[in-house]
Amino acid sequence: MTHRLELNHASISFGSTEVVKQVSFQLPEGDIGSLLGPSGCGKTTLLRAIAGFESLAEGSISLHGKSVSSTHQLVAPEKRRVGMVFQDFALFPHLNVANNVAFGLSRAPGQKKKQRITELLKLVGLEHLAHQHPHQLSGGQQQRVALARAMAPRPEVLLLDEPFSALDPELRGQLATEVRTLLKQDGITAILVTHDQTEAFAMADRIGVMHQGELHQWDSSYNLYHHPATTFVADFIGRGTLLDITVADNNSIDTPLGRLSGKLPSGTEAGLKLKLLLRPDDLHLTTKQEGIDATITERLFQGADYLYTLQLDTGDQFHCLAPSHQQHNVGERVTLKLDIQDLVLFSDEGLAL
Ligand code: ATP
Repeated sequence: MTHRLELNHASISFGSTEVVKQVSFQLPEGDIGSLLGPSGCGKTTLLRAIAGFESLAEGSISLHGKSVSSTHQLVAPEKRRVGMVFQDFALFPHLNVANNVAFGLSRAPGQKKKQRITELLKLVGLEHLAHQHPHQLSGGQQQRVALARAMAPRPEVLLLDEPFSALDPELRGQLATEVRTLLKQDGITAILVTHDQTEAFAMADRIGVMHQGELHQWDSSYNLYHHPATTFVADFIGRGTLLDITVADNNSIDTPLGRLSGKLPSGTEAGLKLKLLLRPDDLHLTTKQEGIDATITERLFQGADYLYTLQLDTGDQFHCLAPSHQQHNVGERVTLKLDIQDLVLFSDEGLAL
């Protein structure tokens, strides 16, 4: 199968510093991918390499099955048919909305151009603002103009670099979902760079979590949360605690919460020390007498639920979610019940077993 975008062991260096290391992933046509990771992990550099602004020290990048970057090749950005949307929107202040969108279609014949502009303004819900100038629009509206302009020439891949970061947080989540719908309606393949996981979850079919230039996992949001490939992904995605455990036998482990049973990978011998991932939804507060005793040390109101920080008598701490109508106070002793679906275990090196 030919993918719209494919990276094979792509590495990028600035001088002697390698900032992107052996990154490989594939993005099928019409899918939205996201590069997610903390500041400085190499996301923007990788996006710039896909656009053709950075060359590769190793590996290759292909668009629609054709190599565009390798150690001895760098197809110019304008020859790649990639579209870009930036953090600051970069609209032309002297052009109205329709002409900003038209800019991306400079080579199309008149009638076709008009048709595409109308179609895009309709798609992004800005037909009524076609003759306004950027300074007369809200941030969210400007973002939609920037998106329409980049989508206009039907790029092979649309690259979005932190496109929502200049907007207020409430608008961000809403726009991310909206932009996903628009891209899907137009069948556009896209890559979003962000450090905000809710944005990545709202928009992407596949998410790549990066850390210090390495791609730790390229997967669905479900798998990143429930089956993280490394302790970095486990920690970066959602809330979670890594508990020190010891393998007891073929199908049980000893943890600070007591002995737990579950499927263990083959070759895990008794006595082996590992880490267990505990998500806040793996535990429930119970009114029954029987269970694990803990003390509430912090609580965070999240609307529908509270996120409690709990401490065992051993000093081990972890989080637990509970509906907000069941209120508990800091310092209160509570009883917990475990509801773990799978034992998600990691080696000392931080790799999933
Ligand atoms: P952010 O979320 O803060 O934008 P990022 O994940 O996009 O971060 P990059 O901008 O790709 O990270 O930077 C990755 C690393 O490469 C950083 O350490 C940065 O300082 C370095 N870097 C980026 N561009 C250059 C350059 N032109 N010359 C030298 N080093 C660079």
